[in-house]
Amino acid sequence: MKKISLIIPCYNEEAVLQTTYNEIIKHLPDHYSYQFILVDDGSQDKTLKVMKDLAAQDARIKYLAFSRNFGKEAALLAGLEAAKKINSDAVIILDADLQDPPSLIPEMIDYYEQGYQHIYTKHRSRAGESKIKTFWALSFYKVYAFLTKNKSLAKGARDFCLLDRQAIDALLAVKDYKRFTKGLYNWIGFEKKCLEFDYVPRAKGTTKWSFKSLFRYASRGIKQFSSVYLWVTTLLMLLAFGLVVFDIVNGIIKQWDWLSLRIDGLMFFVFLALHTILKLLYDIRDQGLNRPIYLTKESNLDD
Ligand code: UDP
Ligand code: MG
Repeated sequence: MKKISLIIPCYNEEAVLQTTYNEIIKHLPDHYSYQFILVDDGSQDKTLKVMKDLAAQDARIKYLAFSRNFGKEAALLAGLEAAKKINSDAVIILDADLQDPPSLIPEMIDYYEQGYQHIYTKHRSRAGESKIKTFWALSFYKVYAFLTKNKSLAKGARDFCLLDRQAIDALLAVKDYKRFTKGLYNWIGFEKKCLEFDYVPRAKGTTKWSFKSLFRYASRGIKQFSSVYLWVTTLLMLLAFGLVVFDIVNGIIKQWDWLSLRIDGLMFFVFLALHTILKLLYDIRDQGLNRPIYLTKESNLDD
């Protein structure tokens, strides 16, 4: 019997995890065997205890707990690595808060049986979500599509998806230190099918994303899948160069007292350009240091 692993990244989800588990098990077609891979991303609440209680009730539950909060991207990677370790044929990735409806699982599995390798999901409508979050999310998808020159990241795409073994291996072959899995899903290719669903509010608990963390996440995606940094830096350097040329020509023809202003402008563009280059260098440094993307404190994967 084929094995499907359900990967759930959890950060401070004590309020909802049991409910999510109860809901998911109602929607699992019975011609597969299932494993839950619950990843505790350094929660400060009792998430890990809830995981252990669940594991005591249901032998299909595997958990692993990080030594601190490493972020959802790291939790997804840990989930995929664990799935590979226990020899899963496919994985389904879901959020812990029931915003990814488990009722779609049977349909995902149908498409998996038809040979699709990455069955992903996106929001049909976002009615019910806060206006400001919708605004930022839609702006991100627009900017991303424009800068990366393709519409590969479907508007409203979720991490909620089914991946077959080849797609899992492909994601694991990517060694990016700062991962942007939403972009990688498209990058790896394979046979894809998209399912749509309407926005569902969080069942319990609160969102773990601040504006700052979402902004960082969005700029990581844009940086990794477009060459925006390169041409912005080039543009800034060209502006600075233009000012230098202007000053030289101007100095030769006639002297204005705008000089100091132009020098300030010049410094501004040069500093911005240098800042951009520095950011890129830092990313190369992070990759070069080759630190592990997460550290595990405990797990029952080997039990
Ligand atoms: N999450 C995580 N690590 C983090 C932040 C979030 O593992 O640092 C998990 C979280 O527990 C949830 C999923 O990622 O299962 C999505 O987070 P959340 O629901 O807070 O995001 P939102 O739906 O508000 O965008
Ligand atoms: Mg959520």
